[in-house]
This record gives sequence, structure tokens and C-alpha cells, in this order.
Amino acid sequence: MKRIAVLTSGGDAPGMNAAIRAVVRKGHHHGMEVVGVYRGYTGLIQGDFVSMNLGSVGDIIHRGGTVLYSARSEEFKTPEGQAKAVENLKKQGVDALVVIGGDGSFRGAQKLTQQGIPTVGVPGTIDNDIPGTDFTIGFDTAINTVIECIDRIRDTATSHERTYVVEVMGRDAGDIALWAGLADGAESILIPEAPHDLNEIVERLERGSRRGKKHSIIIVAEGVGSGVDIGRRIKEKTGAETRVTVLGHIQRGGSPTAFDRVLASRMGAKAVDLLLEGKKDQMVASRRNQIVGLDFEEAFAMKHHPDMSIYNLASILAI
Ligand code: ADP
Repeated sequence: MKRIAVLTSGGDAPGMNAAIRAVVRKGHHHGMEVVGVYRGYTGLIQGDFVSMNLGSVGDIIHRGGTVLYSARSEEFKTPEGQAKAVENLKKQGVDALVVIGGDGSFRGAQKLTQQGIPTVGVPGTIDNDIPGTDFTIGFDTAINTVIECIDRIRDTATSHERTYVVEVMGRDAGDIALWAGLADGAESILIPEAPHDLNEIVERLERGSRRGKKHSIIIVAEGVGSGVDIGRRIKEKTGAETRVTVLGHIQRGGSPTAFDRVLASRMGAKAVDLLLEGKKDQMVASRRNQIVGLDFEEAFAMKHHPDMSIYNLASILAI
């Protein structure tokens, strides 16, 4: 294996740069050339490659986003698009590819392996929703951003004795809401994986108020529904002042935490090791703090579940 390529695809996540850096530096450590591909699969189809030497990934470990840019490509989902991508990789003399992205990107990676380009995946998404890995790159940074925002909201919530509803990201997975909710002592956490009862939430609010609580925080994962709508319904039921904050894309940016930088460095390096061992059609996974290779097929057969013990604990502690 002489020459490998790396790209970032799908939704970006803080720590992707640290993963790119690890792939480039680990590749060079083993005497390989590394090329970057701009804008994910779009760049593969357009032949948008850049040679990456050791210096090209200097000063990026602490930066959010991705220096290779990211994109979604409908064309890559077609056999013609994939054929163009394979042709460009062969023209560039690329022996193998590392795809940093979410599970959609991994489906694309599998197509490339099937067409003769050994490809491995590195899980990068703030949602932590990739089956087979305990953590994804970017999740820790996102929950730290969320709790920083909620700490600020809590200050003003206390001053004005209000209920705040905070909508966080997570269309299908409640992990961000769950972890941030426990870390922030939220009164209620609404996630797509668990049913909620608005009457029970209101009772909880009223119990807290009787005990002298000055404010309440309710965290809603976007997959449950609109935070604005839930805030309005709570206000109708309680008659109390209720404000809503939708955190939005603030959660996707920012300098990665130490945890994400370490995870990304370990995962990027492991991707190179897997390729050197002749592995393909695999993703890198963090399982019980071990960084391992896992067959895409095995991962695709699994379903991601958030840790419901955290949900139950948060409910007990936020009485
Ligand atoms: P993520 O990787 O964050 O889950 P997407 O689901 O949008 O993001 O996937 C990123 C890109 O991966 C898509 O734009 C597409 O180019 C490619 N992709 C997704 N699913 C497939 C598939 N089934 N076959 C081939 N390519 C796919």
C-alpha cells in the first residue's frame, strides 16, 4: 500500500480535522503518500484531490469543521457516479480510502470497496447515532457546547423564575438531549426513543415550584417535535411564563474538546492500521474504550440505542 486518500462526508463535526491529521501523519509514519479529497464524494466524482504532506495538517487539531470541506452528493448514489469516483481514484494511483462521516457516508464507502477500492470508515457526527461504536467524533464537543449554553440560560431563568424549553439536535437519536440533560440537571428530557406525557412534565414542574424551585429546564431533542410547540403547550397548561431556545447549528461548530481530539486521533490512526492489515469494508469503532475495527455489515445490522440508564438516572435526580 503506497498511496491512500482521505475525505470527510455528510454533516461535519468538531474533531474531523484531528482525524484527518491522524490519517495523514500515521500514513506518512508508515512511508505512504496521502491525498485529501475536497467535499466528500462530490470531490471524488470531480477529481478534486490535494496532496497532503506532514505540514498540511499542522495547526488544525484544535479547529472545528473540516479543512477538506464536506458535502452530500446525490450523484454518488448512482452507479455512474460511483464509476466516475473509482476511475478518478485509480487515475490518482490511490490504493485505499478513509471516509470520515456518518452512516450514510459508510454506505457509500461500502460501494467503493465492492468496486475494488478498499475503504474504511471513521465515525464522525455530533449525534452519536452510529451503530456499533459507543462514541462518535464530535459528540462530546456538542454536549459541552449545549451545557455551556444551558448554564447561561439557567442564570436568566433563575432571575426571572421561568421555565425554559431548550431544543437540541437529534432527529433520530436522543443522545445529545440525554447527556446534556443529565449534565445540566434538566427537569425533563424528551427524546425520540421514549414516549413522553405532557401532564407528567407539568406535574413535575408544579412539584418543583411547590418545593421552591426558581426555574425549570426542559430539554427537547428535535426529533420529538418543535420546542416552540412544546413550550406553548406547557404554557397553556401551567399558565406560567415559558420561554423557548432553539440552539441549532451552534451545536455543530467550535473547537473540539480534549476527549474528541483524543478519540479522533486514535480513530484516524486505527483506520490506517486497518488498511495496512489488509482490512476493508470496516469501520473504526470505540467499544469500552478500545479502538477496534468492525465489519460494515455487522454495524449495519445493529441499531443505535441511547443509554437508557442515563435517562432513568436523570429522571430520579431531577425530582
Ligand atoms: P452522513 O454520512 O452524515 O450520515 P448522509 O446520509 O447525507 O450523511 O450521507 C453522505 C453522503 O454519502 C450522501 O450524500 C451520498 O453521497 C453518500 N451515500 C449515502 N447513502 C448512500 C448509499 N446508500 N449508497 C451510496 N452512497 C451513499
